[in-house]
Amino acid sequence: MAAVERGTDEWQKLDVAHHLHPFTDPKYFDTKGPLVVTHADGVYITDSSGRKILDGMAGLWCVNVGYGRQELIDAAHAQMQKLAYYNVFFQSATPPQIELSRVLSEITPGDLNHFFFTNSGSEANDTIIRMVRHFWEVEGQPDKQIFIGRNLGYHGSTLAATSLGGMAAMHGMGKSLLPGFEHIMHPHWYAEGGDLSEAEFGLKAAQALEDKILELGPENVAAFVGEPIQGAGGVIDPPATYWPEIQRICRKYDVLLVADEVICGFGRLGHWFGCEAYGIQPDLMPMAKGLSSGYLPIAAVAYSGRVHKTLQEGGLFSHGYTYSGHPVSCAVALANIQLIKDENLIQTVHDDTAPYFRKTLTDAVADHPLVGEVRGAGLLAGIQLVKDKATKTLFEEDLAVAVKCRDHCLNNGLIMRAVGQSMVASPPLTITRAQIDELVEKAVKSLDQTAADVGVM
Ligand code: PMP
Repeated sequence: MAAVERGTDEWQKLDVAHHLHPFTDPKYFDTKGPLVVTHADGVYITDSSGRKILDGMAGLWCVNVGYGRQELIDAAHAQMQKLAYYNVFFQSATPPQIELSRVLSEITPGDLNHFFFTNSGSEANDTIIRMVRHFWEVEGQPDKQIFIGRNLGYHGSTLAATSLGGMAAMHGMGKSLLPGFEHIMHPHWYAEGGDLSEAEFGLKAAQALEDKILELGPENVAAFVGEPIQGAGGVIDPPATYWPEIQRICRKYDVLLVADEVICGFGRLGHWFGCEAYGIQPDLMPMAKGLSSGYLPIAAVAYSGRVHKTLQEGGLFSHGYTYSGHPVSCAVALANIQLIKDENLIQTVHDDTAPYFRKTLTDAVADHPLVGEVRGAGLLAGIQLVKDKATKTLFEEDLAVAVKCRDHCLNNGLIMRAVGQSMVASPPLTITRAQIDELVEKAVKSLDQTAADVGVM
């Protein structure tokens, strides 16, 4: 049965009547209906009024191969005809799940050759929390239970993933910060660096981890978790000195290192995984989003030979989801990875589109009166909005400056996301140079309009 076609007004009224949107103030829709997206192709989405919009966010940082890819559609169709569902509990397996584990083991770095499948990044992080605590119990160190994350870290929205993350508003809602989770400073040189050089600040931010481990007692600390580049926190890319020092500290105190690759994985930074861009080797790696380019929900935890060996000794692994390793999602992920390889997307991002994007964006906006900093790496960008460039003064919060800019972007036919007082972009990896020009042109126009709104010239 084809979906019912309705007009924009009708869609919006029905939506407001019956649906609560994630990370949205429901009151927002008292004045404004949602953007109803009906079609998409390549890097463009189309809304219910027929307007074509450049998706500078690849959905939610996930549509890495772009929209409408026939290879992925065919893979889902063929797998549904063969075997639409079977589970991987107890003693069962399916060919797509077996193949996907094998293919992932070829692209993940080092000895991250073992996988557990989930449906979302949040579930992957919940899995890691349970897996790592179990790991330490089996290793005979049952007190190693505490996870250390970072301020403004985002690891998902389940109760445990919320606790792992460092988002104050999420902790505040419904008393969602569980015991056993600690947070250290985020490595944002522009905001926190003071008089330190970038390299010095990277070491200082990493030192916060050692200080926290010593405060808690290394015998109580299970793992440190961080995104190679903090995405939902505003695209915060750390100084080059940061991650190697974090890794050194983790090894020194035998604290497991978890690189949350949910955004950075599958080519976003011009490498298969973000940790490769920073020269570190994590013990565990949650991945999602780009694993299937968002075509179907699937996520995974990759874990090392050491973790694997211990889990083998640990008896029943009492954890899993009905749709863990869903065969259709696995088939789509396999087709997606094959497409990334066939189209040489990671090399293209690394050698061509990411450097072009960074240069074009920086040249166009760095001197803008509203812009304090252009940050990020690969096809991931953050633009810090400031009231005063010289003093790095931010706007009053209730001015919602970034939301204003986001709304201008949308009116100009561009999706960018507002995070605090930053604008962020994360376009599909298939974006061309001409489309990057279009993205930057629309972003500049939107920044100009926002500057006029808030009286910064
Ligand atoms: N980790 C990171 C780094 C993320 O960015 C996200 C989602 N944006 C998640 C975990 C949670 O993933 P999901 O929304 O699929 O649960």
